[in-house]
Amino acid sequence: MRAFFVTGTDTDAGKTAVTAGLLLALSRLGTEAFAVKPVQTGCTEKGGVPEAPDVAAWRAAGGRGEALFTFRVPCSPHLAARLEGARLEVSTLARACRECLSPGRVTLFEGAGGLYVPLNEEESMLDLMRELHLPVLLVVGNRLGCLNHALLSLDALDMAGLPVAGMVLCRTTPPSLADAGTSPEAEALILGDNAARLAEEGKKRGVPLLADIPYDASFSPADAACMDALAARLEGAARLLAQEEDHGEEEKERLAFDRAHLWHPYTSALNPLPVLDVAGASGARLLLADGRELVDGMSSWWCRVHGYGNRRLVQAVQRQAARLSHVMFGGLTHAPAVELGRRLLRLLPPGMEHIFLADSGSVAVEVAVKMAVQFHQSAGHGEKCRFAALRGAYHGDTLGAMSLCDPVTGMHTLFSGILPKQLFVERPSCRFHAPYDPSSFEPMERALRTHAHELAAVVVEPVVQGAGGMWFYHPSYLRDLRALCDELGILLIADEIATGFGRTGRMFACEWAGISPDIMCVGKALTGGMMTLSAVAATGRVAEGISRADAARGGGVFMHGPTFMGNPLACAAACASLDELCASPWQDRVQALEKRLAHGLEPCRSLPGVADVRVLGAIGVMEREEPVDVAAWQDFFTARGVWIRPFGYTVYVMPPFIASEEEVDTLTRAMVEAAASAAAHGGTPTRGE
Ligand SMILES: *Cc1c(COP(=O)(O)O)cnc(C)c1O
Repeated sequence: MRAFFVTGTDTDAGKTAVTAGLLLALSRLGTEAFAVKPVQTGCTEKGGVPEAPDVAAWRAAGGRGEALFTFRVPCSPHLAARLEGARLEVSTLARACRECLSPGRVTLFEGAGGLYVPLNEEESMLDLMRELHLPVLLVVGNRLGCLNHALLSLDALDMAGLPVAGMVLCRTTPPSLADAGTSPEAEALILGDNAARLAEEGKKRGVPLLADIPYDASFSPADAACMDALAARLEGAARLLAQEEDHGEEEKERLAFDRAHLWHPYTSALNPLPVLDVAGASGARLLLADGRELVDGMSSWWCRVHGYGNRRLVQAVQRQAARLSHVMFGGLTHAPAVELGRRLLRLLPPGMEHIFLADSGSVAVEVAVKMAVQFHQSAGHGEKCRFAALRGAYHGDTLGAMSLCDPVTGMHTLFSGILPKQLFVERPSCRFHAPYDPSSFEPMERALRTHAHELAAVVVEPVVQGAGGMWFYHPSYLRDLRALCDELGILLIADEIATGFGRTGRMFACEWAGISPDIMCVGKALTGGMMTLSAVAATGRVAEGISRADAARGGGVFMHGPTFMGNPLACAAACASLDELCASPWQDRVQALEKRLAHGLEPCRSLPGVADVRVLGAIGVMEREEPVDVAAWQDFFTARGVWIRPFGYTVYVMPPFIASEEEVDTLTRAMVEAAASAAAHGGTPTRGE
């Protein structure tokens, strides 16, 4: 399925003539071609039917095409639409455009004006192009100043991540008698140089100049001789557009190399679970290299709360990359880090005052653990260096963090020789939606009272235990824990790496209990999933404790400093992500997701093999009675157009907050179908029914 977006450097760059010429040239090559004008302004009425001038021109030249949204006033689409009481939206336009695609032909979508022509107050033609993600053909009006316009357009396309198939240079205005002082010779020189320079600049960027079309005073699309000449000049371009590109072989080789040499998480290096090749992503959808689209139910392991391709985030990273992508944080600072600190302190639970920026969630946990140890050390309690954690917990994969994960699912036996022995307490038995049962806190109380003398801190994932089994427990447990930690002089570390930034329906899960920890870790959604970054926040008391200047006990400085600490690129992404979150109706969205997930997953409850169904915030979980066969479930889901990756006993979704109702329904429907299929096939869903 070949399709292109034809755009120009300005309104009269000659797009329509070029499109008409290409339609003709393509048909001469025996390739069926069709042109589409997503928005046409300046339409006339003919027998009550709006007639689109560009479509009329294509037809006059013998081509086929149609206009999708038509307006009478010949002006920018946003204005023409407004004058007729209408509003154009990229999502609607894109949907209509996609319906014009057909496997048997080359489809040319012709924009109106250039890239930044507005469609409404927020969106431009470039947003539509980004949404369609088609290779672009840039028509450059050959005149004085066109190099500047062409290169700016190429830069903008580059920044939008759009591939450019090529450029066509086109002279549409007569030799400029108007430009006083420009002799015909000088003009010929300028136009010729434009062609040479554009070809050269294009070469540097890997964008070929496909044709150079001179001015034709008598040009008319209805004139067969004119069109003949134009089609002949565009023959090379047409050949390129007609070429069926087969990426199948490339993809096969990529997957083979991946399988042979790249280690993927939690799978064998020699006989790994299958992987899918992702070419791009947009909104709540992953686009696979083979052309398939999957609704993302995972938010890429909790982090992509705004989905993919969010403009604010992409631009923040591009801008920061161009300014200052990295500089060491030792002895230096920068605006993105300071701005992030400001934003975090505004959002974090009260009492959090000092922020340590680290590279990943696991490292944040290491940092938190070291903070707790140094805190007691500097108070003269070097013996307080053990930690209490919950069964069913997950805190990361580095050694210190791993020592705090559930001893069974966290594979402690594998590393028993190297892991510190932490104190484990059974997971909070009182569920989130049940009335609080204070006796559920008793195991923790016993453990803490017995071991207070050696404990530096208790580490918990507040309210939602994530990767250790997706368990939701009662917030009052945290209140009891907070009070007891205070009483016994044990620090409380909240690992909000999975729960932070709205996922559970509150900005932080600690808010369900109205408590503040002594140390808090955030990560994952911190950058909206643009890149890795984590932060460890500590109270003034913790920071002061550690900083007590005492050379004999560690010198009053916190001993950690990653190379990429405070990475400006990541900080800029995080600032943009927090701005996006705070500017969005995230509470409403998460609440709506919760309702939709609960409703959609309800049918699972009555199916055999299902142990439990639970939903909290934007997290929907089906717990199985038996461990899942990851490859089989994944395969079943992929065949149904969703990306859901189960683990252990749980099949769960946590879609991006921006997922539409239809997308959420697609996810839950797939889960119900999988559960039904599993019930009919001995516990494992079987595709192809
Ligand atoms: C994912 C996760 C971590 C580890 O974060 P990484 O960035 O993968 O190192 C730690 N704690 C919790 C609760 C997590 O969900």
